[in-house]
Amino acid sequence: MRSKIMQYVDLHTHTCASDGSDTPIELVKKAAALNLLAIAITDHDTLGGLDEAVAQSKISNIEVIRGCELSVHSECGELHILGLWIKNQASELEQALEMLREYRTERNRIMVHRLQKMGVNISYDYVTSLAGGDTIGRPHIAAALMQKGYVSSIREAFNNYLGSKGKAYEAKKVLSIDEAMHLLKISNASICLAHPGLVDCSEKWLDHLLLYLKGLGLSAIEAYHSSHTSATEAMCVRLAHKHDLDLSGGSDYHGLTKPEIHLGVGKGNLRITSHILQKLKQRRIQNGLSS
Ligand code: AMP
Ligand code: ZN
Ligand code: FE
Ligand code: FE
Repeated sequence: MRSKIMQYVDLHTHTCASDGSDTPIELVKKAAALNLLAIAITDHDTLGGLDEAVAQSKISNIEVIRGCELSVHSECGELHILGLWIKNQASELEQALEMLREYRTERNRIMVHRLQKMGVNISYDYVTSLAGGDTIGRPHIAAALMQKGYVSSIREAFNNYLGSKGKAYEAKKVLSIDEAMHLLKISNASICLAHPGLVDCSEKWLDHLLLYLKGLGLSAIEAYHSSHTSATEAMCVRLAHKHDLDLSGGSDYHGLTKPEIHLGVGKGNLRITSHILQKLKQRRIQNGLSS
């Protein structure tokens, strides 16, 4: 049983608005049942689940932070950037997200077409029928392959077909770093570099990247993440200190899409204290932003 004094948060979660499996309402109820103080919902390329989640948060007595996760291109491959506390009427961001989802549709159709040419009998309509929201991606195609018995696990779907070395893989069109940072900044978001440990780069490269991102309005580094080792956490803390950035943390919960990752606790031992949230809020106040 968790202490009543120490309270925890989870600032990186996904719903079925993108490639998670819980509805926004289910996710908020689960987080409240775990006694989390707050969660951020950070779906890929959509704000679609946020209004429902915020409405449920009032009923469930938990704080929900309006967020999203953007993919950007870098020399070291794809980077992920989280926007937290996105303002209500973020029309320029919404427009860009709609364009990104259109790119995704083109890409998904190409991958499904490649699968069909290999004899896989799956239609694109079937893939979309497995999605619960606006953003459709490779996890939905993987689920379709599994449902129809072509693979026995999501991992096998990625290894054989959908991963970057898979037979049906098509690269995703993403924003540039500057575009993503600008869109989040004009949406009054706190901007956080997601899971640096998943980027295939050196600490030196990350150091240069952070200097650049800080100049574009970066507020935080996601030091605490389900995929991070204690060495990665320590590196993030070091770099945050050097660049005067706050720390953030989240499980990257996806429900059944990534069953090994649990809400609030990641693979079991992740704990993000409310202090992390307080610091992020303090910086927003200093920057004249509301939370
Ligand atoms: P997309 O945005 O359509 O390229 O899909 C990205 C999603 O696929 C992210 O949630 C990834 O974590 C997930 N993903 C990427 N590679 C794998 C893998 N090998 N096994 C399971 N999920 C993966
Ligand atoms: Zn995802
Ligand atoms: Fe990510
Ligand atoms: Fe994520």
